[in-house]
Amino acid sequence: MLYLVATPIGNLGDMTGRAQKVLSDADVVLCEDTRVSRKLLQHIGVDTPLSVYHDFNKEKVTPRLVERLAAGERLALITDAGTPGIADPAFYLVREAIRAGIQVVPVPGASAVTAALTASGLPCDRFVFENFLPPKSARRRRVLETFKHEKRTVVFYESPHRIEKVLADMRDVLGDVTVVIARELTKIHEEFLRGTPPELLAHFEKKMPRGEMVVMLNTGYHCTA
Ligand code: SAM
Repeated sequence: MLYLVATPIGNLGDMTGRAQKVLSDADVVLCEDTRVSRKLLQHIGVDTPLSVYHDFNKEKVTPRLVERLAAGERLALITDAGTPGIADPAFYLVREAIRAGIQVVPVPGASAVTAALTASGLPCDRFVFENFLPPKSARRRRVLETFKHEKRTVVFYESPHRIEKVLADMRDVLGDVTVVIARELTKIHEEFLRGTPPELLAHFEKKMPRGEMVVMLNTGYHCTA
């Protein structure tokens, strides 16, 4: 069996009891970065061996991993943080495992997209997840254009180094839409910033953008105080 195990996105208290048991009972834990995941496993007292599965080796290692699964081994896949498959390379192994008739078992828990969305104040009954927007402004603006007539809440991940450029593009393409930025979710400095792109740009001029971020918008809805 292949288990997809969600791990905390900051607060280690978000590790579920089931996740701990699955990681402890697995024959091997596949992870993106052994330094990151070893710390987590040590914290929960699990000594299952770690093996690397990431974007750069997924094509090379997947056939052997599928063989091991077919031979009856229990493999647990985790990522640096959150739910495997959301903006990381898990999909490739999941697809190949399913093609080989292996059972894939989700072990749910934290994910930045659901944590951000549910506390955003924007409608979360229907939403579109866009992963990371393109790094280059011209392509990013083309993607932002497609949000103009989007009725559902749009959610994407962004880095603090690029957020000001993204907000400037949002101002130019989308105008005075309400944007919510969820920052450092589940950590000590967790915060939700709400405002139009110019208001958020003014905020970041005074306070340098830092930490992990989820950006959300809904063109038909305002949730500022
Ligand atoms: N698989 C993960 C999940 O389920 O959320 C996401 C992996 S993706 C490679 C990493 C991005 O998720 C970060 O760059 C950031 O945009 C977002 N993210 C992860 N943890 C976060 C947190 N604690 N607060 C805000 N955003 C977070």
